[in-house]
Amino acid sequence: MSASTFRFDNTYARDLQGFYAPWEPASVPSPSLLFFNQELALELGLDSEVLDGPEGAAIFAGNQVPEGAEPLAQAYAGHQFGGFSPQLGDGRALLLGEVIDRLGQHRDLMLKGSGRTPFSRGGDGKATVGPMLREVLIGEAMHALGIPTTRALAVAGTGEPVYRQQPLPGAVLTRVAASHLRVGTFEFFAARKDTNRVRQLADYALARHDPDLVETTDQYLTLLRHVAQRQAALIAQWMNVGFIHGVMNTDNMTISGETIDYGPCAFMEAYDPEAVFSSIDHGGRYAYGNQPLIARWNIARLAETLLPLIAKGESEYAVAKAVDQATEVIDAFPEWYAAALLRGQKEKLGLQSGDDKLDRALAADWLTLLHEHAVDFTLGWRRLADAAGGDEMPLRSLFPHLQAPDAWLARWRSRVESERGHALGESEWAERMRRVNPAVIPRNHRVEEALSAASEREDLAPFRRLLNAIRRPYDETQDQAEYTEPAGAEVTACYRTFCGT
Ligand code: AMP
Ligand code: MG
Repeated sequence: MSASTFRFDNTYARDLQGFYAPWEPASVPSPSLLFFNQELALELGLDSEVLDGPEGAAIFAGNQVPEGAEPLAQAYAGHQFGGFSPQLGDGRALLLGEVIDRLGQHRDLMLKGSGRTPFSRGGDGKATVGPMLREVLIGEAMHALGIPTTRALAVAGTGEPVYRQQPLPGAVLTRVAASHLRVGTFEFFAARKDTNRVRQLADYALARHDPDLVETTDQYLTLLRHVAQRQAALIAQWMNVGFIHGVMNTDNMTISGETIDYGPCAFMEAYDPEAVFSSIDHGGRYAYGNQPLIARWNIARLAETLLPLIAKGESEYAVAKAVDQATEVIDAFPEWYAAALLRGQKEKLGLQSGDDKLDRALAADWLTLLHEHAVDFTLGWRRLADAAGGDEMPLRSLFPHLQAPDAWLARWRSRVESERGHALGESEWAERMRRVNPAVIPRNHRVEEALSAASEREDLAPFRRLLNAIRRPYDETQDQAEYTEPAGAEVTACYRTFCGT
């Protein structure tokens, strides 16, 4: 059996007993590989020859547990839409184990949709083709855009129907993550007042994601700070590509700083800070513009779980001091976020040095302009690069009248000119901007088109074409053209995404 292609070293199973339930994936009638990620397999040092075939299909559908795997369902809790659920956990997922990648890093390998577990509650433990291929597309797009993310290694069809509003084809996703530690993992044990386990988990998280901090003083406070800083940087990157996660519950926020759980997520088209796509987000809690606030709120929930560890003793004084220290981190979050956002915006504007205060206003006014005229977020930025190269028409024609951006463009141009000096030619300047302002994002109508072809007609060609396009987000060659265009406003206006259950 060639399953030894996986080099497992399962620290979670070994070091965190009591944090999970050992469990086996369900068998399915007819495994077939719908997607296999060659590039990621290479990164993980896996044998693609073996895995990109029937044996891979059996493994990735859950029918064959590879040698060295120790499948388990992880326990976690979570604040969902603001309310606390003390017991969520992997209701339809199993951690197979950790493989050691080519850089020597431990990477989680998880099956999603592999059947019921002790954490399934009312659910069937299953997943369907559409939402699993959506996770592939969005994850690969984020990766190509340089945004930390979990990624899909494979999607296997199961050959069995899964009953939602109607029967849908079943599928299992294999997900790769720096780890699956969530804010909600800490909440699970904190809610049970199990401080020893919270400490054990924090030590594990430190060893895995911040090894330099192990055995330093104040390591738990520093852990909190690092998670907050990773999240601040991550959300800033989301905002700068117009990404809306859709369900920023604490169980969907990682300790590693990777984006996780692509359910009802979407990329914004016309710029609107209030944009919401998720069909279950009635109050707009997870609207585009709220994401930094929610991230900070989630960090505050993590901070609460760590307080007994941060406190040096149990005296009133020690606890009050820990609260102050944690509050300092939570209060610093907006500044870290704003700094990361501005760094990205400056790059997107084609600027490097210069006065941050002026540039922050320049970026804010640009966004106001896009909002006022309902300009496509991605194309707005991309065409600014063309303008830097001397051609303003593509940008101007995104606006309802060509003169709309006049005043702002004049301001921006004088900033660019002052910085560019004679060091770089116009076209190099434009090229540099094109490398940070994508032409291709997974546009909602393209994603839906690809998923419905796969799910309803077993036609994977549109999915594969779209995947190829989003993997080269900064290229605007002829074959990319159809993927750069927004959908008509009427399509976007009623676009809704649904949780991938
Ligand atoms: P999510 O909304 O995907 O982040 O999932 C929230 C919680 O619901 C997690 O504990 C999942 O494991 C669980 N869950 C989602 N879908 C199912 C399902 N079909 N069967 C069992 N549990 C599920
Ligand atoms: Mg989740």
